[in-house]
Amino acid sequence: MQTRKDRWQDDLFVAGPLSSLIPDDHLLKRVDKVLDVSWLHEEVRDCYCQDNGRPSIDPEAALRLMLAGFFEGIVHDRKLMQRAQTDLSFRWFAGYALHERLPEHSSLTRIRQRWGAERFRRIFEKTVEACLKAGLVNGQTVHVDASLIRADVSWKSITVQHVERVVEANVEDAVSASDDDEPPRRGRGRPAGAPKSKKVSTTDPDTSLATSRSDYPLQPCYKQHTAVDDHAGVIVDVALTTGEASEGQYLLEQLERVEALTGRPVERVTADAGYAHGTNYARLEERRTDAVIPPQRPPRHPKRIPARRFKYDARHRLVRCPAGKTLERKSRTEHPSGWRYAARACDCAACPLRARCFSESARVRIVLIADGHEARLRARRRKEQGWDEPTREWYDRHRWRAEGAHGEAKTQHGLSRAVRRGTDNVAIQVYLTAAVMNLKRLARAAVAPTGSLVRTTGTLTTLKRLWSRLKRVGRLDTVDTAFNRTALGLAA
Ligand code: SF4
Repeated sequence: MQTRKDRWQDDLFVAGPLSSLIPDDHLLKRVDKVLDVSWLHEEVRDCYCQDNGRPSIDPEAALRLMLAGFFEGIVHDRKLMQRAQTDLSFRWFAGYALHERLPEHSSLTRIRQRWGAERFRRIFEKTVEACLKAGLVNGQTVHVDASLIRADVSWKSITVQHVERVVEANVEDAVSASDDDEPPRRGRGRPAGAPKSKKVSTTDPDTSLATSRSDYPLQPCYKQHTAVDDHAGVIVDVALTTGEASEGQYLLEQLERVEALTGRPVERVTADAGYAHGTNYARLEERRTDAVIPPQRPPRHPKRIPARRFKYDARHRLVRCPAGKTLERKSRTEHPSGWRYAARACDCAACPLRARCFSESARVRIVLIADGHEARLRARRRKEQGWDEPTREWYDRHRWRAEGAHGEAKTQHGLSRAVRRGTDNVAIQVYLTAAVMNLKRLARAAVAPTGSLVRTTGTLTTLKRLWSRLKRVGRLDTVDTAFNRTALGLAA
């Protein structure tokens, strides 16, 4: 029977609690069952006066509002409060009844400033501790990766620092201070040893120009450094730096933080070639941590004789060049840390390889032997001989665990672009994003018992391994059959 509903009948009373209007399988309802923020009042106690002033917004309600927004990818306070006005689930999750007035959007900004980035880091760490308690983190294998976050600045704010002009004005000082034989160039040129000019943003000086690929243009960015536990994909550490920072420098301190948080030693770490620093390999060897990190590929057609053709003799602290001459240790470098080895000018002047060895303007060939050089050579040999099957599988898992986490943060939780300026403000966005991703995993595990979650994850892993193995041996035609067989097995 066809019926018509009267849309304009106003209800005087709504019977039943607000929660009864929200379905049990709603994400916020599932998260509410596993979220414990009772500790927050104590954590932020020193940010508020206890016996004077206007009553504050309940810290727990403020945090719940922010989390609700991040679950949905709503990272702007104004949009979040507009949504909370009309979305019952947001109101219920934050603890506001239908008739209660919600806070102003600007109050959330002030709360963030008042609490500071460190407290938001603590909120993130609490989610890791909850995942640890639920058995979702075992801390044995950690996938580490870094990703750029576009800063919230316009191109008009990018300007060249006037270093060059300052250096040119002081070029005479530079000449007298230099003990280099080669005189510094005048005019628009940069004197030897002078700092390079750099583009900076005037509206957010903490950001810097960076790119993730050589064929992509530079963008004003921040860099997020993430460590993901292999067991259930929980993010166990996250940190933020300016975009141009080298991710490899932060690997070891990130592992230390992970171990401090989980209380367990990391047995294996996977990362991409950006982390293939000699110091990282050496320290990981010392710690007996398996480093699944591919060494950087050498350029295919180098213009000059590459440094790898020079043989390092650690015992005698010298380097032997392709012409059989020795290069002696000269000075220490800081970035990257290591020692410079220089050939003798008389050897190079008479050498038939001179034209291919170094540029016209230099007098001798200088080779940098970075700290951990031998560990890096061992890693390179291991890769050249071919990683064994388990190592290849761990690196495959790195792709979808670590890089997948970044993809999820950007596509579902609004981290493709920073919404505020300054390292602390962007760090808060990063911590909240990582916290909601962990809470999602925790909520999922609460619905499916840990065993079944891990079983499902294990089955997916088996399928991925099967896929990559067949791709490797070129038998893609059998994938469909194998996939169907596994799917049938799962259904059974
Ligand atoms: S140019 Fe100098 S460093 Fe290069 S191969 Fe010849 S002697 Fe060795």
